[in-house]
Amino acid sequence: MLIVLLGPPGAGKGTQAARLATKYGIPQISTGDMLRAAVAAGTPLGKRVEGIMEAGELVPDDVMLEVVEDRLSQPDCALGAILDGYPRTAGQAETLDPLVQRIGQGRNSLVLVLDVPEEEVIRRISGRREEAGEAGKRDDDADHVVLERLRVYRELTEPLVEFYRDKGVMAEIAGIGTVDEIFDRMDATVREHLQG
Ligand code: ADP
Repeated sequence: MLIVLLGPPGAGKGTQAARLATKYGIPQISTGDMLRAAVAAGTPLGKRVEGIMEAGELVPDDVMLEVVEDRLSQPDCALGAILDGYPRTAGQAETLDPLVQRIGQGRNSLVLVLDVPEEEVIRRISGRREEAGEAGKRDDDADHVVLERLRVYRELTEPLVEFYRDKGVMAEIAGIGTVDEIFDRMDATVREHLQG
C-alpha cells in the first residue's frame, strides 16, 4: 500500500505520516528529511540542493525521481510506504505511477490531502520556529521563505489535488483539530479504502 500525503507546508504531514507508518508497519519517506540529512552530511546531493532549499524553491524533478526511486527500492518498502513531501509537481506525479508499477506497489495506492487554511499554516510554522529555538530551527522557516514555500505549493503542488481527484484515488481530510483527531480521520479513510 502506497499512501501519498499532500498538503501545504506546515499542514502536519510529517507528524501524521510518522503515525500512519507506525500503525501500518510501512516506512515513512519524507523527501524533506532525506534532503536535509544529505545537506547535513555534505554529500554531493546535499551540496546540490542546499541553496534551493534555503530559498524555499523545489529541487529539480529528475534529481528527486532518483532519490525517491532509490529509497522505494529498498527492501523495507516491499509492502509499501507513506510518501510525505512527494510528489510535489505534475512531472513528479506523472513519473510516480510507472515507478510504483515497476517496483510492484501499484495496488491499493491512496492519496490523502490535508486541508489547512493558509493563515493557520503561517501561524503554525511561526510557532514551530519559536518552539525550536536556535538549535532546532529550520533554515527555511524564516518568514519570507515560508511565504515562498506557500507560493510554490499553490502554484505547483496544489494542482495535483485535481490530478488525483480525477483518478478517483484521493480523499480530503480536514487538517484542523488535535493531532489525534486528524489522525483518526486519516486512519478511518485508510481502513475504508483497504476494505473497499
Ligand atoms: P515543507 O514543510 O515546506 O513541506 P519539506 O520538509 O517537505 O517542507 O521540504 C523542504 C524542502 O525540501 C522544500 O522546500 C524543497 O526545497 C525540498 N523538497 C522536498 N521534497 C521535494 C520534492 N518532492 N520536490 C522538490 N523539492 C523537494
